[in-house]
Amino acid sequence: MVKKYCPKCKCYSYSAFSEGKWICPICGNDITNRIVLALEENDQDKENSFVLAWEDS
Ligand SMILES: [Zn+2]
Repeated sequence: MVKKYCPKCKCYSYSAFSEGKWICPICGNDITNRIVLALEENDQDKENSFVLAWEDS
């Protein structure tokens, strides 16, 4: 799992993959080009909260 920070809604979103199109699931902002962050231990409890639904390519 990795995460990215969305500067628009100031939230992190999570995904199993770091590549590909990444749209913030909360506000819809395109954060594809944001830096991929490693998941921290205390993120585990959020794992199911904001898992991305990948867009069909
Ligand atoms: Zn957002």
